[in-house]
Amino acid sequence: MSTTRASLESIPVSRCEVTESDVAAVLETMRSQRLALGPQVREFERLCAEHAGCEHAIAVSSGTAGLHLLVLAAGIGAGDEVITTSFSFVASTNCFLYERAVPVFVDVEPETYTLDPTRIEEAITPRTKAILAVDVFGHPARWDEIHAVAERHGLTVIADPCESLGARYKGRAAGAEGIGGAYAFYPNKQITTGEGGMIVTHHADVAELCRSLRNQGRSAMGSWLSHERLGFNYRLDELSGALGVSQMRRLPELVAARAQVAAWYHEGLADLPIRLPTVRPEAEMSYFVYVVGLPEGVDRDDVMARLARRGIETRAYFEPIHRQPYIQAAFGDRIGPLPITEMLGRTMMALPFGSAIRKDEVDRVCEALREELAQ
Ligand SMILES: *Cc1c(COP(=O)(O)O)cnc(C)c1O
Repeated sequence: MSTTRASLESIPVSRCEVTESDVAAVLETMRSQRLALGPQVREFERLCAEHAGCEHAIAVSSGTAGLHLLVLAAGIGAGDEVITTSFSFVASTNCFLYERAVPVFVDVEPETYTLDPTRIEEAITPRTKAILAVDVFGHPARWDEIHAVAERHGLTVIADPCESLGARYKGRAAGAEGIGGAYAFYPNKQITTGEGGMIVTHHADVAELCRSLRNQGRSAMGSWLSHERLGFNYRLDELSGALGVSQMRRLPELVAARAQVAAWYHEGLADLPIRLPTVRPEAEMSYFVYVVGLPEGVDRDDVMARLARRGIETRAYFEPIHRQPYIQAAFGDRIGPLPITEMLGRTMMALPFGSAIRKDEVDRVCEALREELAQ
């Protein structure tokens, strides 16, 4: 390794951007002494509902918590089957495993890596209760086709838009599909609150139940020590709420900055024999990550190791959920063949990404990848 290379600053796989105005918003909230159940969370909810084009938004402590409450609102319980995708982050399956429901994984489509609606019908059994689809990497799933199958079979649809805040599908904002969806605000997402999430839904009954469940089963009207049902503490605090308000106001800017980084990658990698993100005509993608697919014959993990030695952090993305040891142990014998998911699991790699990644860093990643693939 040359000295110039060794002296280069390493490039992280994700970098978030907290501005001075974000810091000021959080400080102001600290000084207000109101740290929970206050105006910042309410304003953050209002902004998210407005963005999602729906009536209701309920702030929660994580995206996973939001999905869990939607699973409860769907009435999913022990032994119910949920048709979903394995090519996702584990939270999209964990959220219903908490209620002892059973995952039925169907394969994804090879262009956008989202759940393939044409494979749902063959997976339906008398125990099927719901379909949970994910807007993978910020690309909306084929929602209208999913809704059509769900309607034919009387199934509930739950959305996981944890990676797609700011995306659009047929003109509507990603988020409140079916009984609702939950955004996530971990620091690698389009906007961050540190930890946090937000349920968005068109349904008043779902919203009311989720509000109660996140707040220890209290009702909107009841007293502080009256609990109507078994609930959770899934509340978001005011400091996170203040950061969320400040970040949400910059969402268009942050999504545009990510699109710019994606465009630099597209251009820099266009002539390499790798799979780049595809966007379907009815969708506007909000890039959560920038993931490329290496050719089948190339040892992806070796390429990743060589990039790491050059100070470039990448990630195998996703490791399919059905490959995770705890899923194999519980359901391994009943998972059908998922050839596209398997292929993606072997070949996909996330490159350094985020609104704060610079052009010179993208250039360095593209050049390094070009050199390593030529080896
Ligand atoms: C980030 C993410 C979640 C939830 O993440 P939290 O860390 O719980 O906020 C859920 N599903 C997918 C697909 C995600 O990428």
